[in-house]
Amino acid sequence: MADRAQYDLAEEKAMREQFTRGEMPVCPRCGVAMTERKIGGGSFGLGYARKREWLLCPHCHRSVLFDVKRGTRN
Ligand SMILES: [Zn+2]
Repeated sequence: MADRAQYDLAEEKAMREQFTRGEMPVCPRCGVAMTERKIGGGSFGLGYARKREWLLCPHCHRSVLFDVKRGTRN
């Protein structure tokens, strides 16, 4: 909890673009695949059109959170 290290905006953007293409992003600092965390259970309605993704690097423990538009897979 003490470590609040974050990616910079360019790194987050690159990872989001990778994820959007259907690839699992790789940590730009460590070169290891990010781990996908499910963010469960919000009280949003079933029609909520967006999904929130949380990716975590198992090595440096930086994480990135972003909204992903659904619609590429259905
Ligand atoms: Zn890392």
